[in-house]
Parts: sequence; C-alpha cells; structure tokens
Amino acid sequence: MVVLLLLVATVSSAQPRPVDLVVRHGTVVAVDPAHRVIADGAVAIEGGRIIAVGPATDVEAAFRGRETLDARGGLVIPGLINAHTHAPMVLFRGVADDLRLMDWLTRFIFPAEARNVSAPFVKAATRLAALEMIRSGTTTFVDMYYFEDQVAEVAKEAGLRGVLGETLIEVPGGPPDNKSIPDALAYTERFLKRWAGDPLVTAAVAPHSTYLCSPDTLKAARALADRYRAPLLIHLSESPVEQTQIKERYGKTSTEHLRDLGFLRKGVLGAHGVWLTPSDRAILKASEVGVVHCPQSNMKLSSGAAPVAAMLAEGLRLGLGTDGAASNNDLDMFDEMDSAALLAKHASGDPTAAPAPAVLEMATLGGARALGMEDRLGSLEVGKRADLVVVSLAAPRLHPLYDAVSHLVYVAKGADVSGVVVEGRVLMRDGKVLTLDETAVIREAEALRAAVERSVKR
Ligand SMILES: [Zn+2]
Repeated sequence: MVVLLLLVATVSSAQPRPVDLVVRHGTVVAVDPAHRVIADGAVAIEGGRIIAVGPATDVEAAFRGRETLDARGGLVIPGLINAHTHAPMVLFRGVADDLRLMDWLTRFIFPAEARNVSAPFVKAATRLAALEMIRSGTTTFVDMYYFEDQVAEVAKEAGLRGVLGETLIEVPGGPPDNKSIPDALAYTERFLKRWAGDPLVTAAVAPHSTYLCSPDTLKAARALADRYRAPLLIHLSESPVEQTQIKERYGKTSTEHLRDLGFLRKGVLGAHGVWLTPSDRAILKASEVGVVHCPQSNMKLSSGAAPVAAMLAEGLRLGLGTDGAASNNDLDMFDEMDSAALLAKHASGDPTAAPAPAVLEMATLGGARALGMEDRLGSLEVGKRADLVVVSLAAPRLHPLYDAVSHLVYVAKGADVSGVVVEGRVLMRDGKVLTLDETAVIREAEALRAAVERSVKR
C-alpha cells in the first residue's frame, strides 16, 4: 500500500513531458467512435503523430509542447480530406462555365490543357491550389492530373498530404505530357518508385475512367498498382453519357465492367458514383472500394445527384471531394459539406438525409476510409497522424454556437480557418500560411492568365 501511494505521488508530481507540439484551448471535435466534443480541449503531438487528445488540463498536466498552437475561441477538427480533385485546374476556373460536361471537356478544357499544361504551369497552378487548400482547411488532397511529379513536389513544399496519380487517358492527340499509355505507365512506375515511403506523398495509379481507358489499360493499371501496393484513382459513373456509352460498348455498367476486369479492390477510389445502381453499390461495398461524392461539380455540370442517403445507409466507404476548380469553382471543403447536406435532402425529398455529423464524417474519416487509410487519418485519436485544423469562431455568423458540428457543416467557411497542422507541422498560424510565399504564388499565377485566355478564345 505504501509503495502504491508513493508511486501515485511520483506520477502526480511528475513534470509534463516535453513533446513537439500541443494544440490547446479549442473545442475539440474528434470525429472518433464516441463522437467526442471536448470543450477547452487539447491535442499533443510527437513525431508527426497524435499522442493525446482530451481536456486541456489533463493533456497539459502530462505534456508540454516545445511549440504550441493556441486554439482559444476556436474549434479543433480533423484535417479535411479532399478525396477527388485536379489541383492544377485552378488556373482554368472561370474560363468556361455553364456548359454540358462533354462540351465543356472537348471544346474548352482539353484544348486549354493541350496548349498550356507544362511542368512549370502545373507547378505554379498547384502552388496556388495548395494555398487555397491550406487556407480552407484541407490537409489531404487526392489528385489526378498531368506532370504529377510537379504536384507531388509542391505538396511536399507546402507541407500538404497528397494521394497523387498521373492520369492515364486515351484521347485523340493524347494528354499534355505522356502521349501514349505505355509512356504514361512508365512515367507512373517511375513516380511510384520516386515517392515510395514518403511520409506525405502516396503515389497512386490513376486511369481516367471506363470511357477514356481501354480494358487493357485498366488491367495494366491494376497490375501496376498491385506491384507497388498503391491506391487506384478513377472517375466512376459520373454522367448519363458515360452510363450509355459503357452500356453500348460492353453491355454493362461501369462498375460491372471494372469488376469483370478484376479491377476492384480495397484502395480503389471511384469519384462521383452518381449513377451507381443498387447492385453496383453492393459490388463496391463487397470489394471495399471507396466512393467520392462531388456534389458541387455534379450540380454545376448537371450530372445528377448521387445516391448519398443510400450509400450512407449501406455503409459504403464514402468520402467528399471538390473535383477540379473549373467545375466547382473553388476547393473549399466547407462549401462542399454544406452542398452535400443540402443536395442529399433536395434530391431525396427527405430533410433527414445526410445529417450534419454524417457529412462532417464524409469530409474527414469517410475520406480516410474511402482511401483505406482510416488507421492513420480522418479523426483526432491517439496513434493517428497529426493532421488538424483550427476553425476560428470570430465571425458573427458563428454566434451563438449550440452545436459545433452543425455550425461546421452549415455555417463555417474555408475563410474561417486560422490554423492548419499536417504531420505535426504547423502550415498556417493565426491566419498566415507559413510554407508558401502568398504574394509570389499569386503573382506567378497571374502571369499565366493571358496565355490561358488566348488559348480558349472562342
Ligand atoms: Zn474529376
């Protein structure tokens, strides 16, 4: 008994252990299994990993941050996961709006890409996108574009986490960089090797879609991804046009086609899923494939409304994405959450569809699950990578606050983000981005404006 008492005395009088970073005094919205919301909470971080989450008094009694991030008067939430985007397309936003998907792609986007997209262009564009993503609370972005090595280099420079893939696409004239599928596959293999083991960049294999990739390309993509245990990114059941084309070519749905090619497995991420049938969804669920809902892009291109309520009820691995900025037109995941909640209600005629907690989960833990990375990302729990966001409650519209999750989904904007941490590194503090030179990035983007405008002259 005496020994035990001595032990307790020793523990309670112990000095707090120094750790890399303590984020403190914010209301912590953990998105953990208990749905904890901790008033005056704190998160302790060591080696890029979360080692404690709880009331600030408890966490600070045990840990002292060599660096601290004060979240007083704000919310501390898991970093948002933009599970489907084409980051460099920020330089094409606003060049052509209000068009049908195939018109928009073939008359504007593909020609603009052919004439402008180069390694330096992608670098400048991704820096601009990274700035926007950090400023609006995205900590992980899932990207498929061209010159993906440049995207990865900028992700590292900005300190963002990325799941990134070079697009494999079969279009007349080829894409801006690798003109043939063998070239694109070789590029992808070099890319997979270059980024293997990187703490921030996960290299993926990214065939564009069932309608712009042949069965052989899809099979080669899956085989390559398997050799490197890499994720696979693809557009899936986005539009009625895709639905019809694939039916005509193969007599089945895109999901059935992918299943029959042996393409589906955990770590496959299908963007959109607007036209998934109940049987498609059962196939995806059984194969542990992730689906990414992109409500704003789907609404803007009038692609339809994804069966979100059904996918949630069926327990699919469901994430949320903005898609490229040219069909959104921003990368703000707070906006996207609001739209996801509203569209699901509007489309189903059921105001109880996609409630706020489910939508916040879609933007965080759901995205992690869709990627098959839920053991590392998506919530504020001990053992996970330290990706988190501080949302300031300074704006009048955020007062009074009755329910933090409700405000996060229905009221907060990307512009309310005041702090961002990825892998334990502070990327933004008190509204200032620390990893990129904002003025230089905007100047660099502006310098490309005239060339883009010329290339899409009607
Ligand atoms: Zn897309």
